[in-house]
Amino acid sequence: MTELNGKVIIVTGGASGIGKETVKQLTAKGASVVVADFNEDGAKEVVAEVEANSGIAASYKIDVSKGEEVKALIDWTVEKYGTFNGIFNNAGIGLVKPFLEMDPESYHRVIDVDQHSVYYGMYYGAKKMVELDVKGTIVNTASIYGTAAAIGSFNYNAAKAAVVMMSKSGALELAHYGIRVVGVAPGFIDTPILGNNEEMKNMLAAQHMRGKLIKPEKVASVVVFLFSEGASAINGQTIPVDDGFLSFKVK
Ligand code: NAD
Repeated sequence: MTELNGKVIIVTGGASGIGKETVKQLTAKGASVVVADFNEDGAKEVVAEVEANSGIAASYKIDVSKGEEVKALIDWTVEKYGTFNGIFNNAGIGLVKPFLEMDPESYHRVIDVDQHSVYYGMYYGAKKMVELDVKGTIVNTASIYGTAAAIGSFNYNAAKAAVVMMSKSGALELAHYGIRVVGVAPGFIDTPILGNNEEMKNMLAAQHMRGKLIKPEKVASVVVFLFSEGASAINGQTIPVDDGFLSFKVK
């Protein structure tokens, strides 16, 4: 038994990387988790792994860039588990292009998936918590690139900066209802989103104080803490999990 026993938490992007590790750690601490992802097979595999370890999880296929789908996910969760205590708005993509090639489609795709999805999760999630009289927690995945600009990342920089501010603004609006909103800002995490270019990965790794990519479970453990009672005085902040990335300049 742990303090997350009986809590029902949705993890978007739960089929891979940071989301997948978070699902594993939340369920190991007793939470029931909905693994919401575009990648249905991946989500089912994560659920099977959780169940093999006696945890409780269910998969749900979704495109988080569509508001009506996020609303339906939250309704479905309450129908399945009877309540809803938290959402980790984590699904995201990258699409790197020089600014002069950042056509409207490339710009909007990343804004839709990385930014608007967080608004949908916060909006429909908070409304449901208020309706159920649940004092829940919302955790959003931002990035070091929500603070630091990077070449080729105009769309991603804009989306993640918005996520940082939405966590603050949402926290302020929702504190009155006992709902907390916080964020994490990962450095470079060793997940499929980085692709397979080893040279590029080595270059990214060098930008951390320990000179290596961060493991997704290290972000997951911070997210699990943010969902816990121990983090009840953290509100509106986005916690860097960046091995010092934002604190020093690589020569
Ligand atoms: P990942 O590619 O391993 O996982 C992302 C998951 O999101 C995948 O399972 C994918 O299917 C899902 N997804 C993508 N678009 C979706 C959509 N429209 N609807 C539903 N699901 C969708 O990547 P990750 O590194 O675990 O990324 C998780 C989050 O962390 C993202 O928001 C990403 O921007 C952020 N982040 C990652 C890094 C990094 O270096 N890996 C750094 C900073 C921030």
